[in-house]
Amino acid sequence: DIPSLSLLYKLNKLDASRSGPVEGAHPFYNEQIGLYRGDITKLDVDAIVNAANESLLGGGGVDGAIHRAAGPDLLEECRTLQGCFTGESKITSAYELPCKKVIHTVGPVYRASSAGKSRAALRGCYQSSLELALQHDVKTIAFSAISTGVYGYPSLEAAEVACDTVRRFMDAQGGLQLHKVIFVTFEEKDVRAYNRALPQYFPPP
Ligand code: ADP
Repeated sequence: DIPSLSLLYKLNKLDASRSGPVEGAHPFYNEQIGLYRGDITKLDVDAIVNAANESLLGGGGVDGAIHRAAGPDLLEECRTLQGCFTGESKITSAYELPCKKVIHTVGPVYRASSAGKSRAALRGCYQSSLELALQHDVKTIAFSAISTGVYGYPSLEAAEVACDTVRRFMDAQGGLQLHKVIFVTFEEKDVRAYNRALPQYFPPP
């Protein structure tokens, strides 16, 4: 599929100019799955997935970066949504961002003492974001590494939940509706985590 290839080239260019190549990463594991390191707000995909909090009224980390880049209209729309429960997602316009939509999902605050609960919630984030993507005709989606920042989810476990949930979703879809899923990493620890998890769930050809 041609669009996915041109996207690959665009991403590689961005990657090289902004943050250097992802060390040791295959830029794409297959036609549909990508790993990108850098600022998610720069990606002109159909939808980016924001790691928000339950208020949806802005925060630090990737949420802060997305609101700064989108401009104040994003916050205005978020105010109308009445928040979002942990493990669930809501979709908005993207305003000044180069993408078309923002999917706001609320990851769990990680607790080792209830790791199963944290995992179920994180799985819910990916699953509900993918369902929203389908409903809104999103073909290319870029996920931030939900909960791996201030919410403290261990990077490798989080990457495994992300990959497993996307893989199951694509298998259930026959892989036909979503053209590309990009996992966006920012810090070295998450690059390492995805480089370990991706080949297990999406073996290179
Ligand atoms: P959470 O509260 O869900 O942990 P954070 O925003 O603290 O959310 O972190 C989520 C992930 O987003 C982390 O992996 C962090 O490194 C990453 N991140 C922070 N800023 C950006 C950005 N501009 N683009 C992409 N990822 C980012």
